[in-house]
Amino acid sequence: MNASRTYLDYNATAPLRPQAEAAFVAALRAGGNASSVHVEGRAARGFVERARGQVAALVNAPVTGVVFTSSGTEANNLAIAGAIGGEGVTRLLVSSIEHPSVLEPSRGAGVPVREIAVTPQGCVDLNDLASALAESRDRALLSVMLANNETGTVQHIAEFVAVAREHDVLIHVDAVQAVGKIDVDFRELGVDMISVSSHKLGGPQGAGALVMREGIKLQAQMLGGGQESRRRAGTENVAAIAGFGAAAETAAEFTSGVGDRRDAMERAIADQLPQAKVLCDEAARLPNTACLLVPGVPAEYLVIALDLEGFAVSSGSACSSGKVARSHVLTAMGIDDAMAECAIRVSIGWETSEQDLQRFVAALATCCERKMSAVAEAAA
Ligand code: PLP
Repeated sequence: MNASRTYLDYNATAPLRPQAEAAFVAALRAGGNASSVHVEGRAARGFVERARGQVAALVNAPVTGVVFTSSGTEANNLAIAGAIGGEGVTRLLVSSIEHPSVLEPSRGAGVPVREIAVTPQGCVDLNDLASALAESRDRALLSVMLANNETGTVQHIAEFVAVAREHDVLIHVDAVQAVGKIDVDFRELGVDMISVSSHKLGGPQGAGALVMREGIKLQAQMLGGGQESRRRAGTENVAAIAGFGAAAETAAEFTSGVGDRRDAMERAIADQLPQAKVLCDEAARLPNTACLLVPGVPAEYLVIALDLEGFAVSSGSACSSGKVARSHVLTAMGIDDAMAECAIRVSIGWETSEQDLQRFVAALATCCERKMSAVAEAAA
């Protein structure tokens, strides 16, 4: 990343870890197709299998349960469509704050979808989940994210598992934002599948994984090859997968201190901008994420003004179209539109220093004051 800039958008894409870059380059240079039987092919296969072990170790999952995909988005799509086709799922239960890569394939899956409400702090409403489970005895897939990309709220998955297991329900957890930021233990979670993404934990873009427990029947959605034990056809992106594995191995070392720096930043913002509000601050949150707003200062303005000051943050969710759209997450939490339009997401990581955040808070205060004076002048 550019040294004159301060990157505070780890939830969009984390910086590439040096170990991931080295593994990526080594695999790219080595070449070879992981399905070929010759020396070059076996070397490529070696990179893929090493990474499979590294990803499995990071989330404490069986190595054979790791299916490499092109992204977290593909892993989520595969979980939903693959469970419908392979496990005979005829009903989907998804929380209303899921990432679009869960919501859109669910809505387009051709089976009934029940969206579960969340509380104003962004936690899945357990009463609504219980009602949704009781509405039908059809075989269901429940898909809930472990950590929300916009607010950082961490869900109490154990509570859902306890409730859902009383019914015939498979459980998929989108752990894309959680892995690498908090401990994620697949076996301890007790769920059937989790999704992971390389670039969210410091690996290259272009690799993800669906991690499954043994015995899950998944219908492949990519057809035309036997790769990934016939669960995902297509020549593996060996270099990206190798980088993913290296990032996974390094990720476990980099979690300390981030939460303290985020908390100190939030306290400094409260001192300098007492009208600022941090969303979901009463819920369990990822240690690196702050979703905050200053009433009357639109996120659309703030993201650009901060960018000009050298700081990269995003407004609510980073939209793939580049346009600032209304956040379905904040709407589901009952935040009114005028407030939601002001929400920005600051997401930090292993390269973010205390000084970076002090400079950020000063720039935030300057940008907000500039906007508020302009509004006051226009009204005078
Ligand atoms: N799930 C969550 C919670 C995310 O935040 C994202 C990306 O922002 C995804 C899934 C999609 O991951 P990818 O960017 O690897 O497609």
